[in-house]
Amino acid sequence: MVAARVRVGVWFKEEKMSLRKVVRMFTAGGLIAMAFGAFDGHTSSQKQWEIHDVNRPQPPVIDPGSFSTQDQPGRPPSDAVVLFNGGDLSSWRNAAGEQAKWKVERGHMEVVKGTGTVATRRGFGDCQLHVEWAAPSPAHGEGQERGNSGVFLMGLYEVQVLDSHRNKTYPDGQAAAVYGQYPPLVNASRPPGQWQSYDIIFHRPRFDRDGKLVRPARMTALHNGVLVLDSVELTGPTAHRQRPPYQAHAGKLPLTLQDHGDPVRYRNIWIRELPEG
Ligand code: MG
Repeated sequence: MVAARVRVGVWFKEEKMSLRKVVRMFTAGGLIAMAFGAFDGHTSSQKQWEIHDVNRPQPPVIDPGSFSTQDQPGRPPSDAVVLFNGGDLSSWRNAAGEQAKWKVERGHMEVVKGTGTVATRRGFGDCQLHVEWAAPSPAHGEGQERGNSGVFLMGLYEVQVLDSHRNKTYPDGQAAAVYGQYPPLVNASRPPGQWQSYDIIFHRPRFDRDGKLVRPARMTALHNGVLVLDSVELTGPTAHRQRPPYQAHAGKLPLTLQDHGDPVRYRNIWIRELPEG
């Protein structure tokens, strides 16, 4: 305590700061911190609010929607951006920037072999993503050639879509793997033809002004409601037989779904953008 007092005393002397100046500085800092806190009712503001502070901003009220059944897709949360609700592909384009050419019928979209990856027209960064998919039934092919597609966050980071029901392949390439990096914690696959869900929480990588990586991408995912990726740190973009390093990119990029030649189906796709903390 004495040492601390001495050190503070020295600091005052060196900086030639009056007590009033110091108080003013701290007040300004507090106001700025409070302003930021108003946009973030969570972790970074823990220090700025007293415990049980009634003046702390109330979280926004939303309608959480409903869960899906095999017969019926659920209702997205009211604050989600709906990317596909079974109607049309107006939120999607192909690699050439034209309207996506995948098939839409009976409330789902289906990969049409050779028409290529589809990408959202909008870009996204940090997000919560919900995707439902079904592998072709009856099953066809083995390993990576059975019900292969993929959900690419920012078009770069793939969560594998594969019929992994009684279908062995390399673990970091099965359903719900971060392709080539992390196998899922468990294989929670349903049989082909049944609807399956991914709920993914993604934090994009951060780069400094010189394009140097300052924080890798991070992902948590649930497959059919079961935790399969627990806040894993991505090594870089996903690729086949390689782990390429990060390369600086924009803060928001389109989400893409892979055409791997198999008629995988998708329905009920929605995304919630997360505050960029
Ligand atoms: Mg794939």
